Amino acid sequence: MRYCCVIGCSNAKAKTDCRDKTFFKFPLKDSQLLQLWLKNTGRQGFMPSSCSIICPEHFEENSYTTRQFTKRRLLKQEAVPIIVSKTLKQIPKVGLPPSATDGNNMQPDGTKQ
Ligand SMILES: [Zn+2]
Repeated sequence: MRYCCVIGCSNAKAKTDCRDKTFFKFPLKDSQLLQLWLKNTGRQGFMPSSCSIICPEHFEENSYTTRQFTKRRLLKQEAVPIIVSKTLKQIPKVGLPPSATDGNNMQPDGTKQ
C-alpha cells in the first residue's frame, strides 16, 4: 500500500488496483511547481521521493487532460493539488466518536438532521 502524501488524507493505493484510481507523483524535476505541491500537502519539511504520491481527489476537474486514444486521465503539467485546504477543513477538530449510537439526528451517511 502507498498512501496519499496530503496531510489529513487517508487514501491509499493498493499495488493491485492501478486502473480506476490514478495517483500522481510529485513534480520532482520542476522545483517551482514542487514548492506549490509541498505547500499544499500541509506537511512541514516534507521531502517527497519518486515514490511519494497524491491521490486524484486534490485536483480540480480542469487539472486533467484526457488522452485521445487511451482515454486515460492525465494531469496537466502545471496542475497543483488545490483541493487540499478543503480536505483539511473537513477534519473535525473535536469530533464525535465514530461509534456514537445516540445520535438521533445523525444519518448513517454523515449528513446532519
Ligand atoms: Zn489524498
